[in-house]
Amino acid sequence: MTVMVPSTTPALITPGRQALDSALHQLAQAADHLGLDDGLRTMLATPRRSLTVSVPVRREDGRMDVVQGFRVQHNVSRGPAKGGIRFHPSTDIHEVTALAMWMTWKCALVGIPYGGAKGGVAVDPGALTILELERLTRRYVNEILPLIGPEKDIPAPDVGTDEQTMAWIMDTYSVNTGYSVPGVVTGKPMTLGGSLGRAGATSRGVQIAALAALGRSPEGVTVAVQGFGKVGALAAQYLADAGCKVVAVSDVTGAVHAAGGLDVAGVRAWVAESGGVRGYRHADALTHEELFELDVDVLVPAALEGVITAENAPRVRARLIVEGANGPTTPGADEILTANGTTVVPDILANAGGVIVSYLEWVQNMQAYSWSASEVELKLRDLMEGAYAEVRALAAGRGLTLRQAAHAIGVGRVAEAHQMRGLYP
Ligand code: NAD
Repeated sequence: MTVMVPSTTPALITPGRQALDSALHQLAQAADHLGLDDGLRTMLATPRRSLTVSVPVRREDGRMDVVQGFRVQHNVSRGPAKGGIRFHPSTDIHEVTALAMWMTWKCALVGIPYGGAKGGVAVDPGALTILELERLTRRYVNEILPLIGPEKDIPAPDVGTDEQTMAWIMDTYSVNTGYSVPGVVTGKPMTLGGSLGRAGATSRGVQIAALAALGRSPEGVTVAVQGFGKVGALAAQYLADAGCKVVAVSDVTGAVHAAGGLDVAGVRAWVAESGGVRGYRHADALTHEELFELDVDVLVPAALEGVITAENAPRVRARLIVEGANGPTTPGADEILTANGTTVVPDILANAGGVIVSYLEWVQNMQAYSWSASEVELKLRDLMEGAYAEVRALAAGRGLTLRQAAHAIGVGRVAEAHQMRGLYP
């Protein structure tokens, strides 16, 4: 039996711990702005439920590995908990807690009746065969089974998971329940009750937020995208479709750049064929760090947390940053970007398209009904544009950054729900 190294080493400041520190810093700023009392602050800073599980996985060669899994429900005052599941080797309880907290504010900000949750397994899915991945997913779901359910906590895809993962989760939950429960997860395949428009929803939301923040014609606007996965690749595609010139993209394999603009569909085809952007023929290679320093109009971080820091922020030349990823910008970087006149459309606003269409998928499942692609897109656009306008107006009226305004709205709504419900007992 092999026990994989636990992802949390107490003496180490992990990237997950840094993400949680960022989330707590943003919450403290919002709480100051709203004048919340100490008790409420502590409540909002503390997850409602956190579960750490050991997930044994039988490997193809007969060995057994044991990996750590997590599910955190940060807050359920406005409705069932909602949030993705991440498979990544460096995920830990701190990262999952930060991501759950951001989900709480995001759902409140865009006005959907959910609390925030997140899940994760500290594993590299690329190192497992499809059968190992299925066994791992089903065992992890079995371990977190008491927490999840369509009225309780509804997972969705995140880094390293996809609609196949959601299908296994739906099946595992349904087998344990004794009947099919499509509403237990969102981001499912269409054949199992997925929603039209869900696969591209986060990216569509990034495009809507970017175009709203640009405030001018997208024709010829230059864009760089860090992370060419589910969110980043389609965000690049939709921005290119709108007339922007996507000049650089990256993923874990490398970064590529073409000053005249990349053929995004061509890069996507290359990634499907080769497994990564590296080696794409019609572009030059770039380092990961150089992508952040390009002289572009728009930078879309769409990979992991903590990539724009106080160290590299002074070299960021983009006029607008639209956060496809959760938590890509540290508080130290935020201050530098604000001082340099860079506008940041924060994660809880910019990438909310995913949870909005997840909510629409869940509503369809609960009603055993389905909407057309155009109905879904219209509702998504309405909620995204409404939330953007609200954040913009508060920021302008109070002299806040878009992140401060977005957090003030999201945290304020959750605080109000707590106050209205009162404290039991
Ligand atoms: P994904 O696993 O599909 O893609 C992640 C991409 O990032 C991959 O292309 C990977 O190669 C790349 N990457 C990883 N490390 C990198 C590095 N150091 N430099 C450059 N690229 C790197 O994940 P996703 O679902 O696209 O999620 C991306 C981000 O968007 C995450 O922060 C996630 O929490 C957030 N998000 C996702 C959704 C969703 O619906 N999937 C919704 C809201 C927010």
